[in-house]
Amino acid sequence: MQLLVLPGDGIGPEITAATLVTLCAASERFGLGLEIREDIVGHESLRRYGTTVRSEVLAAARAADGLLLGPASTFDFRDEAKGEINPSMFFRKNLDLFANIRPARTYDGFPGRAGTFDLVVVRENTEGFYADRNMAAGNGEILVTPDVAISLRRITRACCNRVARVAFELAARRRYRLTIVHKANVLKVGDGMFIEECRAVGREFAAVAVDDVIVDAMMAHVVRTPQRFDVIVTTNMFGDILSDLTAELSGSLGLGGSLNAGGDHAMAQAAHGSAPDIAGKNVANPFSLTLSAALLLAWHGRRRQIKPFETAAAAIEKAVAAAIAAHEVTPDIGGELGTRETGAALATRLARM
Ligand code: NAD
Repeated sequence: MQLLVLPGDGIGPEITAATLVTLCAASERFGLGLEIREDIVGHESLRRYGTTVRSEVLAAARAADGLLLGPASTFDFRDEAKGEINPSMFFRKNLDLFANIRPARTYDGFPGRAGTFDLVVVRENTEGFYADRNMAAGNGEILVTPDVAISLRRITRACCNRVARVAFELAARRRYRLTIVHKANVLKVGDGMFIEECRAVGREFAAVAVDDVIVDAMMAHVVRTPQRFDVIVTTNMFGDILSDLTAELSGSLGLGGSLNAGGDHAMAQAAHGSAPDIAGKNVANPFSLTLSAALLLAWHGRRRQIKPFETAAAAIEKAVAAAIAAHEVTPDIGGELGTRETGAALATRLARM
């Protein structure tokens, strides 16, 4: 498998280095033949090349079997004309990575903040309120006068349908429950369409029980009884917000693994941002990116029908669970190890499995 690795900004290089140690151990242990090529995006690329993402990097991403993207300091990037492009948006849009799969589960050894649970948020990833990517040309945010701004939200049947299909397929591999999260009481047209398409796809999955919950009430339900949920499907921005909450409820944002998947490409990318408050301190939890990488290996294995990739992905998840139970982890989930040491301990554990 050829993997393109782009460490990004802030804690990105630290959690990427720790994840690569684990991936190399997995490659050795399970005979994956991983070939890793590194390049740069974000601030370093802006300094060196005048743009946060070069077109050569997109070409390399298209040619690779998978992409590992570290977080970028996207809030700093305001003007695309000056090369300040959001790398996350750029790859999601250009590789059509339409489904963002964000599991959240609790682990023995570190109590979750709302009891034991295991769920997955499936978030539409290419349209919705994300004005920097929901137009073929231009931007969906308009400054009408210096004091009037309009932000446009795009919802299409095709995008609702394809993300719903991913969510139902996932529910059919898990506990056969799917919850549609929406705001159709206010966004009657757009979220009405989202619910309609989810329900239409659901008719092909008779064994999956479906319900729907309004997004504001969902914040209460998911804190009160996250055990109630299996797979949750929702639009872009609701999924972004909800999945940070579910990751933190599971113990830490630093456990928030995430896969951006399309028809032909997939990108592993932690759910969180570049965490400038802890960057360079060797305290960031690398498991978010490591678990994202495991999701990518599983995706590749399923797609190409190469069993060792799925075995390696399951082993990484098991090794993370065992590391948490043994407190061989970073301070955010109760440990005393640094980012580097956590990655090294996980790699050693994996090599012995
Ligand atoms: P953040 O997700 O970076 O951090 C929020 C909080 O969670 C911070 O306290 C941080 O220390 C903590 N945290 C995050 N990851 C952690 C980890 N692995 N281990 C332990 N603690 C962790 O959110 P923010 O501070 O609002 O954003 C910082 C920058 O990241 C901004 O420029 C934002 O635009 C950008 N961002 C990028 C992405 C992306 O590249 N995919 C996603 C979200 C935010």
